[in-house]
Amino acid sequence: MVSPTYWTCCLKKPWPTNRGGGPLKKELMEILACPICKGELELQVEVEEGDEIIKGALVCHRCDEKYPIDDAIPNLLPPQLRT
Ligand SMILES: [Zn+2]
Repeated sequence: MVSPTYWTCCLKKPWPTNRGGGPLKKELMEILACPICKGELELQVEVEEGDEIIKGALVCHRCDEKYPIDDAIPNLLPPQLRT
């Protein structure tokens, strides 16, 4: 699995718990920003476990862009950088 550290550059603040990444929790939504416009992201939950988002998506309405969440790790790479 890809190290989650790559997406922490998109955080408005340092990752509050285990720095460098970890499961996406609802409380962390407020420090997540769109990697393109740095705007607010809307959380769409498909699977959650406690307060962790296991599967879903983060949606930026300004960019009309959707960032998938898999295994509780959000993929916040801009679409053109995804492989
Ligand atoms: Zn955006």
